[in-house]
Amino acid sequence: MTDATDITRQTLAALGVSTAADLAPHFAAVRAEFERDAATITDDATWKSLRDLWMGRKSGVLTRITDNWLKPSPPELKRVVGQELNQLRAHVEQRLDALQQTLAAAAESQTLARDRVDLSLPSVQRPLGSPHLLRQTFAEIERIFLSLGFRVVEGPEIETPYYNFEALNIPEHHPARDTMDTFYLAMPPGAEPRLLRTHTSPVQVHTMESQQPPVRIIVPGKVYRRDNPDATHSYAFHQVEGLAVDTDVTFCEFKGTVEHFVREFLGPTIKTRLRPSYFPFTEPSVEVDASCFACGGSGCRLCKNSGWIELFGAGMVDPAVYGFVNYDPERVSGYAFGLGVDRLSQLKYGIDDVQLFFQNDVRFLRQFS
Ligand SMILES: [Zn+2]
Repeated sequence: MTDATDITRQTLAALGVSTAADLAPHFAAVRAEFERDAATITDDATWKSLRDLWMGRKSGVLTRITDNWLKPSPPELKRVVGQELNQLRAHVEQRLDALQQTLAAAAESQTLARDRVDLSLPSVQRPLGSPHLLRQTFAEIERIFLSLGFRVVEGPEIETPYYNFEALNIPEHHPARDTMDTFYLAMPPGAEPRLLRTHTSPVQVHTMESQQPPVRIIVPGKVYRRDNPDATHSYAFHQVEGLAVDTDVTFCEFKGTVEHFVREFLGPTIKTRLRPSYFPFTEPSVEVDASCFACGGSGCRLCKNSGWIELFGAGMVDPAVYGFVNYDPERVSGYAFGLGVDRLSQLKYGIDDVQLFFQNDVRFLRQFS
């Protein structure tokens, strides 16, 4: 930046100016110098230097012109010098304003260029969770039985042998205990034994203890057995057991309920078959089979060519069970069933390995979201 303006350090008299005509070239030279300086402005710092050089109150160029040219002028020149000076001041102020705006605009477009948003970029993926397939099957089963007037009840996973076995008509040394290899908890000597429930049936006993008939409940939950894990077994699995007890519950109602559930769960064309079976807490007991939904009953690999698939066990509540909960077996009757949620999910969705439910492999889970 040039310091103009040596001529503004001298008086007009020293410059040999005595008329208005002499004055004009000097103002023109000063203005030209300002323009040269203004052309070099590139940023805030150089703009401020320019402003201070020209507008500085103590020694800026305009102040020097006032002090050296205007004030000492003879009266006949003073008016013209004043006019020229005012025009020069107005010009300098206007140019400085315009330069400042240009700098601000440039800075803004620089910022915009730096922070530019590329709308074509792929968005950040935020995967959403969804209910586990087992949870979905629970919900489906609950929906069907809720529509029939059943109520959902839950209970503890740690139980006493009384609630898990005795009150369900499975006394000690009963062979049925062998089929339910049980996890017992380590307890202090003398304490009442505790176990991980092998079925959700203890909740039925708790419910009947605290409630007189009519009782219509389903009990969803986790149960535990000491099975070796394989494609159809696991240490922990999932059940929905059901119980209906009232003064006039017949085998016919039982059969109708079972058939309704199978059709709702597997499809309206599925047929149901009851086969005699044995469970300690039901009499008579049945296995509920469904016509094979893969082959329609003609025989295939899924149904081992029988046309039927074993679904779950059920039966009329053995009157002996009522004795444990102070129900009058002469007055009430009922039925119970136990649905294996893992097995029903495997069948319905064609999953050949139950371990997939517990491995939490997103590639598997995502297929059912
Ligand atoms: Zn089949």
